[in-house]
Amino acid sequence: MAITSTDPATGERLREFAALTSSAIEEKLSCADRAARSWRSTSLDDRTSVLRRAADLLDGRRDEYGTLMTREMGKTFAAAKDEAAKCATSLRYYADHAAEFLADAPVAVDGERGYVAFEPLGVVLAVMPWNFPFWQVIRFAAPALAAGNVGLLKHASNVPQCALALEQLFADAGAPAGVFQTLLIEAGQVEALIGDERIAAVTLTGSEAAGSSVASAAGRHVKKTVLELGGSDPFIVMESADLDAAARTAVTARTINNGQSCIAAKRFIVAQRIVEDFTTRFVERMRSLVVGDPMDERTNVGPLATAKIRDDLHSQVSRSTKGGASLLVGGAPRAGKGFYYEPTVMRDDTRNSPAFREETFGPLAVITSVRDTSDAIAAANDSRFGLGAAAWSRDEKEIRRFARELEAGSVFVNGMVASDARFPFGGVKKSGYGRELSAFGMHEFVNVKTVRIRGAATSSGSVTE
Ligand code: NAP
Repeated sequence: MAITSTDPATGERLREFAALTSSAIEEKLSCADRAARSWRSTSLDDRTSVLRRAADLLDGRRDEYGTLMTREMGKTFAAAKDEAAKCATSLRYYADHAAEFLADAPVAVDGERGYVAFEPLGVVLAVMPWNFPFWQVIRFAAPALAAGNVGLLKHASNVPQCALALEQLFADAGAPAGVFQTLLIEAGQVEALIGDERIAAVTLTGSEAAGSSVASAAGRHVKKTVLELGGSDPFIVMESADLDAAARTAVTARTINNGQSCIAAKRFIVAQRIVEDFTTRFVERMRSLVVGDPMDERTNVGPLATAKIRDDLHSQVSRSTKGGASLLVGGAPRAGKGFYYEPTVMRDDTRNSPAFREETFGPLAVITSVRDTSDAIAAANDSRFGLGAAAWSRDEKEIRRFARELEAGSVFVNGMVASDARFPFGGVKKSGYGRELSAFGMHEFVNVKTVRIRGAATSSGSVTE
């Protein structure tokens, strides 16, 4: 079976790879196992030096990696270069903070020395999606490797060249053999891998279905998992908001990464008294977006990553129209080569359409109107997902309610949801569990070890009661 790289801007097949055989997987697994034993006792300075060198390489190869991302999954070249830069920044963040995050944490106990230590778990398997083909991987790998774990990457089948480039990046940065490896395998080969005793833990970013399947397998083998799954983020705009800034940001928040982001704003929840005004501004801006070649710097929205994603999005639009939602702009795939879809806005005050209830992965926004703050919170929380949430308001009391009552892993007020290595990232409800980034992300894949020592150590090192 083949793992295929296709240019979504043209539909042209770029490269094809055979999935690894079981003996090739075995070789990589034993290499990872050996590496895990020595990497954990490699000094923290040496481990973080690898991260720093990888950051420098990412900076130096920004155009090369940017081109690769754009050609394999269609994000604009500008966005792809930004992604490479963000990876470099985050690698340096963990290189700078690993010592602090991994330092023994003393606990005061009378008559004892007590502390909490953070030790690596071993080989972490990462199952990753294609939408941020470098960033999704780096945000798992930087903290995991700094903490002394080693990584095995099963990347999405449509970005094999990015997957191989990441393996080469860590090798070029001086990571010893086995510390970071890519496995070109298919989804069906993951379950057996999870059962292998050399795999200590699994992290998955992807759909709810994939998360459920991977977590079930990991559960059967009693292995730790972190799941970063889908989202249908609300973007609330209340009467006191700066309407122009909100409408402008709303367009970026919905169309970032050609609309294919787990934390893209998808449901626009707007106070009744301003909904027409907001809609006019928002629709006008969505209509004026330039859709086209992702390598062209004038392009705002490139193609969707695969023909299936485009077709699934169109089905959601058609089903929403049939269900009574109204179409305000867009609503069709673009004719000709490539997997393009028009930026689309719908209105649905019933909150029952697929556009409101399902995760939509492309430039499709749905607007619904609300009576007041409580109704806005109820509409936002009326979702199986709970990844991010944005709210626009200048009313302090209302802002405090949004921060406390929105069911989401993060709440951004007067801005758009974004990941940042300094803050934890993750979701509640069907958006998954566990956290990436910050110290919380690093502590997901460590043994949080309690150590209590009674008696005083003698100068020879032995302990006396
Ligand atoms: P997907 O189909 O779930 O694929 C994600 C990864 O899981 C791929 O490597 C895929 O491999 C693998 N996979 C799929 N089914 C599997 C199974 N049964 N067992 C083991 N592995 C399996 O997701 P997608 O549609 O490509 O990506 C978009 C989804 O990711 C959206 O739902 C989005 O919201 C979510 N996402 C979440 C976050 C977050 O941080 N919360 C970030 C980005 C994306 P193959 O490619 O070989 O099928």
